[in-house]
Amino acid sequence: MASQISKRGFNNSGDPTMYEKYWKQMGERTTIVIPGWQSMSYFSDVKNLCWFLEPEFGKQVVRLHKVVGNAETDGRHIVVGTGSSQLYLAALFALSPANASQPMSVVSAAPYYSSYPSMTDCLKSGLYKWAGDARSFNQDSPYIELVTSPNNPDGFVRHSMVNKTGGTLIHDLAYYWPQYTPISSPADNDLTLFTVSKTTGHAGTRIGWALVKDPQVARKMTKFIELNTIGVSKDSQLRAAKVLKVVADSCEKTRTSSSSEYNESFFQFSYRVMDQRWQQLREVVNSSSVFSLPDFPPDFCHYHGQVLEPRPAFAWLKCERELQDCESFLRGHKLLTRGGRHFGVEPKHVRISMLDRDDNFRLFLKRLSMVQP
Ligand code: PMP
Repeated sequence: MASQISKRGFNNSGDPTMYEKYWKQMGERTTIVIPGWQSMSYFSDVKNLCWFLEPEFGKQVVRLHKVVGNAETDGRHIVVGTGSSQLYLAALFALSPANASQPMSVVSAAPYYSSYPSMTDCLKSGLYKWAGDARSFNQDSPYIELVTSPNNPDGFVRHSMVNKTGGTLIHDLAYYWPQYTPISSPADNDLTLFTVSKTTGHAGTRIGWALVKDPQVARKMTKFIELNTIGVSKDSQLRAAKVLKVVADSCEKTRTSSSSEYNESFFQFSYRVMDQRWQQLREVVNSSSVFSLPDFPPDFCHYHGQVLEPRPAFAWLKCERELQDCESFLRGHKLLTRGGRHFGVEPKHVRISMLDRDDNFRLFLKRLSMVQP
């Protein structure tokens, strides 16, 4: 990750610093104080299958999913992780049989999130191995398919692509929130990953959660986290719980009354910013013949109560010129992006983060508008 994160100018890593502005406006609402004697034990709730899950965090996760309508939580176990990254590895561990003769193949349709291959193979596990693009997977052995929806990097809504039996799905729904995409129905999958990083922008808190139907799978995921880190920071869970609570409050209070407490809900604010940024980006791209952007079909959003166009967290920009490598072409114009190769496709596409701070995004647009054909 370190090599993928740049300290210079525009980030190409999707660091969600755009949200700082909202949280500054919220002032002390999300401040928590943790006395020195609190949160000392390893254990949070010994009666829970996930014994290190802070009850208040679990409560706010369920509440927020109900308020937003983006995921079924009934009949699910919540497993908390140090980011959804840790939960991804926990899911691979839990879904791969311990006694198989071959490692389980792990696939995702290209373009896929660039960290999946390196995370999957970094320890050269005997349990699972990266097997590339789900569209070209043709082995008869069992497999795990990652379904990222909306997808990082291209923003499209996705479903499983491997047309075979014997597969297990992991749904990575990091971006299935109303600022990025219309919420069409509550996700109802066997194993779904979410993260506060993309929900509220608190990437540094390092908290994610999994909604897991099968208790055996949830138990194995919990075991993996126990073996790795003996649980997940309680301080972070308490902070995340508070942030999710304020988000859910902002949704409920703006819905039910003309609240003097919240002018707009967190998702109204963030959709508005994303909408504005996408319009500005499209203006720049449309006024040049060098680049193009994908179009997204509008859909009814049950959260916002209207038909809306998706406003993905990343823009998947295509270079229409004959170029070897769009990423280095843009770097020559002092624009840091991440090229298609990282995502398992040709280098004529690059991924642009739409979640940077206002100043950086503005400068990015300015420099992009100066790129000549
Ligand atoms: N999944 C996807 C699709 C992502 O884009 C990211 C973050 N870039 C993650 C997972 C990892 O999130 P976390 O910060 O929770 O580890």
